[in-house]
Amino acid sequence: MKLYAPTYYKRFQCIADRCEHSCCIGWEIDIDEETLQKYQALQGGYGSVIKESISMDDTPHFQLCAGERCPHLDERGLCKIILGLGEDYLCDICREHPRFYNFTKVAEVGLGMSCPEAARLILSSPDFAQTEEVGEVTDVTDDVPFDGCAARADLYAILENNDYASALDTIYHVYSIDAGEDEHWLEILNSLEYLDADHKELFLRYSSMRRPESGETDEYQKRFLAYLIYRHCTEAIHDEDFCTRLSFCLFCERLLASLICTQGARSLQEVAALASMISEEIEYSEENTWALMG
Ligand code: SF4
Repeated sequence: MKLYAPTYYKRFQCIADRCEHSCCIGWEIDIDEETLQKYQALQGGYGSVIKESISMDDTPHFQLCAGERCPHLDERGLCKIILGLGEDYLCDICREHPRFYNFTKVAEVGLGMSCPEAARLILSSPDFAQTEEVGEVTDVTDDVPFDGCAARADLYAILENNDYASALDTIYHVYSIDAGEDEHWLEILNSLEYLDADHKELFLRYSSMRRPESGETDEYQKRFLAYLIYRHCTEAIHDEDFCTRLSFCLFCERLLASLICTQGARSLQEVAALASMISEEIEYSEENTWALMG
């Protein structure tokens, strides 16, 4: 089956030691079965270091060091597994990050916004609605009951053919999305698990009334919403599920708008950092995502 991606996908490159927020800090890295076998077959050298760093409690994973750093991250921010053994020795999670996949009638890959470099790329790319072939995947079925790509294309058409404020009004109206009371969302935000307590404090200042002046950061907000739709709505299994996911995406959009105001963010760099924060705290936790999807 052919694999498609947004056209900006091919322009992504990890900036490794220049990254202000390494994905090798703060997250436990689970090791897939195939890579685990590869590590267990290593003899001596850096292979011994790798084997000693693995915990077999629950899912096999690397035991994090002080500051929740991956044990294979060197002081320059480079990966010692790549340096010592090559990229072929990365486990699936490390090799794939920050990519995610949608398997529907079409197979698609995207870049997750928790990566600040991906966030900057996505928010600076106007071509969010266009995809192109980037490879092939096997062992996936296109036997799915709902055409999420077609439903997504309808939303993208609204976003592309209207000014942003009108596009949002139309989407809320056409899809019968109720933005709900702020108290409801604040209660959920207060109950989530956070990687960083400062982020919780910021999120709890959420107000749907707080939105940037029209035009100031519209394009960034629009591309953020388009990204969320690509990531969360495409795999919907029926119309109602599509609207539930869309409601979640629109809440995240309102949260970004509120944060932009609270933080006085205007530049690409500033807005991308906030989008990345939302992605890291919400999208990358299934529990948090489900709590907000209701
Ligand atoms: S967060 Fe993104 S740019 Fe930074 S190290 Fe990870 S993949 Fe690379």
